[in-house]
This record gives sequence, structure tokens and C-alpha cells, in this order.
Amino acid sequence: MRRLGMLLAMVVVGTAALAQKANAPKIDPQRIRAHVKYLASDELEGRGMNQKGGDLAADYIAAQFKSYGLKPAGENGTYFQQVPMVGVKTVADTTFGLVPASGAPVELKALDDYVTTDEQQKESVEINAPIVFVGYGISAPEYQWDDYKGYDLKGKVALLFVNEPVSEDPNFFKGKALTYYGRWTYKFEETARRGAIATLIIHREDLASYPWTVVRNSWGGEKSFLKLDGTPKLAAASWIQQEVARKLVGMAGLDLDKLFQQAQSRDFKPIPLPVSLRAHIVSSIHPFNSRNVLGMVRGSNPARNGEAVLYTAHYDHFGIDKSKPRGANIFHGAADNATGCGIILELGRVWAATKPAAARSILIAAVTAEEQGLLGSEYLGKHTAQLPVRPILDLNYDDLPPIGIPEEVEVVGAERTSFYPIVEEVAKEFHLTIRPDSRPEAGHYYRSDHFSLGRVGIPAFSVSEGMKYQGHDTAWGQAEAKEYVDNRYHQPTDVYEPSMDFRGDAFMAEFGYALGQKAASEPTIPMWLKGDEFEAAQKKLLGAK
Ligand SMILES: [Zn+2]
Repeated sequence: MRRLGMLLAMVVVGTAALAQKANAPKIDPQRIRAHVKYLASDELEGRGMNQKGGDLAADYIAAQFKSYGLKPAGENGTYFQQVPMVGVKTVADTTFGLVPASGAPVELKALDDYVTTDEQQKESVEINAPIVFVGYGISAPEYQWDDYKGYDLKGKVALLFVNEPVSEDPNFFKGKALTYYGRWTYKFEETARRGAIATLIIHREDLASYPWTVVRNSWGGEKSFLKLDGTPKLAAASWIQQEVARKLVGMAGLDLDKLFQQAQSRDFKPIPLPVSLRAHIVSSIHPFNSRNVLGMVRGSNPARNGEAVLYTAHYDHFGIDKSKPRGANIFHGAADNATGCGIILELGRVWAATKPAAARSILIAAVTAEEQGLLGSEYLGKHTAQLPVRPILDLNYDDLPPIGIPEEVEVVGAERTSFYPIVEEVAKEFHLTIRPDSRPEAGHYYRSDHFSLGRVGIPAFSVSEGMKYQGHDTAWGQAEAKEYVDNRYHQPTDVYEPSMDFRGDAFMAEFGYALGQKAASEPTIPMWLKGDEFEAAQKKLLGAK
């Protein structure tokens, strides 16, 4: 008994010593609860971007930052960074047709055959340009892969497959895991960089891992973009149905399945088709501003406090849909992502009260327009030079189920950085097992806000619970996750409930606090590992400072 008591005492002292190097208040789960309860309430109307609820949320977060004593880190001495955006909706006057060199043209049917958006944000544009099949449209020097082989896409229409070359080899496009090259966002960006006027992504359900209805629903309405900033954009960023693609290449006497086989080879070369896209794209254009909310704690070491550990979480959600009946028309977004906001607010409070302050600075950012395609964080990532401090690591929080105390943590992407040994060490202190990405082929790394920071060269990853919770087995965690995805995720039913248990969210905040303490005091900054797809971006970023 006595020996066991001694042992327990030692464990307690050990943990306390680790956690209490700096003097700081404890993360409080009840405070996280209060934030989630308010942010997910009817009053906030689902925190829609460019809606009253989204503005209320931003104002609330800024007021909390101020009450904790965080310093404004936005523009003109405020907590806000204005994010200029434009809503673009393709309207009914649009026509979209395929014109073969010989034979009859084919008019395509909006939503059934194709979806398209004018990323160039013009009210009207005419396209009459030849179509070129470019395989996957990937140029990836680190895998010695180049689908373009010097072919000039200027003024042309790129036709390509979503996803990336089929591979089981972990050293080739990361095997089964999806790299950024496989994402549709990459396809539009890369072809626009190469001067294409339009891009047609061939939808294959098996490759996209979602059906045409998902494409149709998410592209049918208004899409939001950052205001044009010189980044090349397409006049027609489009998806076409697989059967339409089959018809299209058929006009050139080619076979879609054979083209797919050809696209698996390093020797693939672009194939110009004797078919043009003739389109008249008409859009309604609607400029507006949204806001990121930024607060900071100045670091104590003048040699290092120009650098900062950044914490991010998106505060926006889908807002209110006034075309639907009252009572079922608010997308409350309690888990997604009032939980992440509650966590970074608590982190802000605790960091502001930490004495002495860490060597490096701490920057807390609640970002907007994540649900529109990571736009608020993209703007933040593109404008780090305007921030009062330079982020050296981003820890992101997105959608952390308030269902108890986790025994696992997910930190996908951390293993690609020099910071990983520290993550492993801290996880051990917290008795957390690191859970690997459960579905690497889905490319989740590229679908949350940390990616916006990662791609500009800042080591970045999300911190979230795994599947194993205290008092339950892994199957229970998986069943909870499935229940959430099936019944609440991105639906009005993602509501706050008094039965929610925020101890796990608090634990994840404490974990992030401990990581932040390390990152803020280590002599060296975290780096993307050699050969990583973001290594070059980091070199550029550090060289440019
Ligand atoms: Zn979401």
C-alpha cells in the first residue's frame, strides 16, 4: 500500500512538474461548453458567412479575446482581418457545348451533364477553344511525373481525370494515400497556372469517392471565392459526367477506358482532340467582406518573439436557410466547429494568463469561410507578411466530438515535420496513443484549415481525438463517429446538448497548450521534412522573410 502510495505520489509530482513549468490557469471544460452553447444557439443563426450570425460570432470572439487581455493582431489595431470575397453563381442563360471538327455539335445540360463556375468572376464570358486530354493533369517533380511534357495549355481547355496515378508503392504518390495532386482543387489551380481558359474534370465516382449528386449539389448554387489577387483562374472550372466524357472522346474516335490506361504511364503525353468547347457563361457576381479574428500574446524573448505558434479554428458554418421552414433551417454547427472555437478561446485565455510568457509569441486565429473551401485560412496564409508576428507552426482544431476523454489523438501531417518527435513525447506524457489516418485515400489533410498554412510552408496539422475513449472500446468510438456523420454532420441537427461532455475537448486543448509551450521555447523552428511536398514552400517562405 505504502509503496503504491509513493509511486502514485511520484507520478502526480512528475505530471505536475511537466504541466506547471510556466504558471498558467487550467483549461476549463465548462468554459468551452459555454462558448459552444452560445455559438451554436439559435441567436447565432448557424454563423453563416456574410450573414448576421457570422458577424455576431466574429464580434463575440473578438470581445472574448479582449477580455482575456490578448492583443489585437488584425488590421489597424483591431482584432479583425478583412477577407475580401466574391460570390459567383452560374445562371440559366449559360450554354455549354461540344463542337467536333466534323459532325454535329452537342449541347450539354446544366447540372445533369456538367457544372461550371467562372473563377475569373466576370458577368459574362465567351469560350471557343480546343480541348486537350492531359491525363491526370499532374506535374510532380518529386515523383518524376509530368503529364504536360512541355505542352502549352494557353487559351486551351484541359480535360482530365480526378485523383492520381494508381499505386500501392508508398514512395510513389504515397501509395494508397491521396496527395494534394489528386484533389480537384489542385487540378483547377495547376491548369490555370498553365494558362488554360477552362478545365473539365471527368467525374468517376470510384475515383472521386463521392457520387455526381455531391458535385451537383455543391456546385449548383452560389460559390464563394477570394477576391481576385493575381492568382491565375479559369473562366470555366467544370466537372463533366463520365458518360459525357465518353461521348466527347468518342467524337475524336477515342475510347475513355483506354485513355485512362494511358494516363497511368510516366510516358503519357497530352492528346489534343479535334473537339472544341463552345460556351457562353453568365454569372451573377456579388462582392462582400468577411472577417478573420486574430489575437496574440507577445513572447518574452526579443530575439524570438517575432515568431509565433499559431492556433486556428474556423468559426463559420452554413448559416440559416430562409427558404426552409423555421425550426429546421439553422445549421447550428455545434460540433462543426463551435467546439474548435471553444478550444482556441480557452487556449487564448490561458496563454494570456501564462506567466512568464513563452519565448516566442502566441497567435490565435478564428477563421472564416472554411465551409466555402478553406477561404479564410487561405487568405491568412497568403498574408502572413502583414501579421505582427510570423507563424512557425499551426495547430488547428476542427470538429472535436464532445463525448468524453480520449485515449487517442490524431495529428495527421505532424509525422511529415521535424516537430514529430516532440508530438510523440507530449502524447506519451498525456497517455495518448497517436492514431494514424484511418482513410488516407480520402485526403483529409487537404480538407481542413491547417492545409492553407501548410501549403505556404508553415508546418501545420489538426489536433483531434481518435476513436478510443476512456471507458469504451474503439468500436464504440467508431459507432459514435458514424452516428454523427449519418445524422448530424453538416445538417441542422448538429446542435448543442446539455449532455455533451467537454472534458475531452479540454484535454485536446491542454495537449495543444503543451505542444505550443515546446514549439514556443525550442531553439529551432519546426520544418517540413526533406522531400515533403511543402518543403520548397517553406524554403521560399523563410528566404523571403
Ligand atoms: Zn464542416
